[in-house]
Amino acid sequence: MSSAVDAFMQEVIAKNPEQKEFHQAVQEVVESLMPVLERHPEYRKAKMLERMVEPERVIMFRVPWRDDQGNIQVNRGMRVEYNSAIGPYKGGLRFHPSVNLGIIKFLGFEQVFKNSLTTLPMGGGKGGSDFDPKGKSDNEVMSFCQSFMSELFRHIGQNCDVPAGDIGVGGREIGFMFGQYKKLTRQFEGVLTGKGLNWGGSLIRPEATGYGAVYFAEEMLKTRGESFAGKRAIISGSGNVAQFAAEKVLQLGGRPVTFSDSSGFIVDDDGVNEEKLSFVMNLKNVKRGRIKEYVTKYPNAKYQETDPKADHNPLWSVPGEVALPSATQNEINVNDANNLVKNGCYCVSEGANMPTTPDGVNVFLESKILYGPGKAANAGGVAVSGLEMSQNSMRIGWTREEVDRKLHDIMINIHENCRKTAEEYGTPGNYVNGANIAGFLKVADAMLDQGCV
Ligand code: NDP
Repeated sequence: MSSAVDAFMQEVIAKNPEQKEFHQAVQEVVESLMPVLERHPEYRKAKMLERMVEPERVIMFRVPWRDDQGNIQVNRGMRVEYNSAIGPYKGGLRFHPSVNLGIIKFLGFEQVFKNSLTTLPMGGGKGGSDFDPKGKSDNEVMSFCQSFMSELFRHIGQNCDVPAGDIGVGGREIGFMFGQYKKLTRQFEGVLTGKGLNWGGSLIRPEATGYGAVYFAEEMLKTRGESFAGKRAIISGSGNVAQFAAEKVLQLGGRPVTFSDSSGFIVDDDGVNEEKLSFVMNLKNVKRGRIKEYVTKYPNAKYQETDPKADHNPLWSVPGEVALPSATQNEINVNDANNLVKNGCYCVSEGANMPTTPDGVNVFLESKILYGPGKAANAGGVAVSGLEMSQNSMRIGWTREEVDRKLHDIMINIHENCRKTAEEYGTPGNYVNGANIAGFLKVADAMLDQGCV
């Protein structure tokens, strides 16, 4: 680590103790940005990095609710409004027991750069709660969502802060929160994205993150004259991002062969086809079951439990040319990255946020494989959220084909922007540097224009 990065990180760690995911996200960005700060003393003078690591505002609140037995439960809610230099705060809400301030800050920080890359006018934010929707009834989820929004509503708005979904927050949760927002404010406005189609949602929003990650992978493959045709795709997760990544891989002639959840993973060497994928969608989105049920229905496939304490996850040793990590942060460690490369993977496009640990990322960069970091590769979700905001403002709805075409164009542009920027700063092929630098420049220039605020 250079001494400038080291000194900067020491301050960040001292000021934000215990927030290890946040430190990890900041360190990666700061390392990429050193050549930019050398070339542009105006950013150093304006203390641009110091300002960008500090959120504009952090809101933390109590979320009391009643379970089906009438007992009172208490969770913690939060929203980090990170940066509004180029537009209203925009970023998802995560409901998962692991949620803490460090995780929401890492996600919010990354969101600033990601949203900038989309070319749409969106600042960055993120929020969530340590509430666990798993095993809760619809009534309990509604009770929680209503209580969560009873505080959040005063901080958000269509021109100020527009949350969306993330882990544990899908169409059901967005619906309950939108209903409560409308009741409290008497405003029917585009305050959340990922809404239902008949009350302001956009076609292709559910598909957008997964489709986008595959479009990004396709662009990377094209730089080597290749396509998805006939390639095996190793996919983690089985939620929103994983499902639609698999759908797009299938449409492009590839073969998804794995899915996972926090208990284990399935391998289907015959390939997950359309019929099997709709089984997974029903299993996960309607029955809210576990991925292991896949092998009861399709006995040719194999299920293996994962041990979170083990030094590697055998999912990442499954042979395949393309990997689409689509579950959660730090799910690929250095051993997993080595196993992927060893077993023939040469294209990784991150549907999840920060799914690879820093030493895992180094394995990918040193092996010179095609590696698309989450910030760039999964920006399709927020991009279509931005398109949902546009449609809400204009009070119109675009067709499926129109939105998909815009999404595809945005992903092609993001890829090109990252590729060119990496080259311009002397690290061709390094999409990490490309994404961090290109995302930074737009936000930093807007902050310079807007003065010391
Ligand atoms: P979902 O809640 O729909 O699905 C999450 C999936 O990941 C589930 O299969 C879940 O398994 C698994 N998972 C979650 N936490 C863990 C864990 N700690 N260990 C192992 N598996 C885990 O979420 P999404 O698909 O929306 O999000 C997945 C990733 O994509 C996240 O990193 C998110 O931040 C990122 N992302 C999502 C976007 C979106 O539009 N939804 C946009 C951009 C990024 P289980 O059911 O067992 O918990």
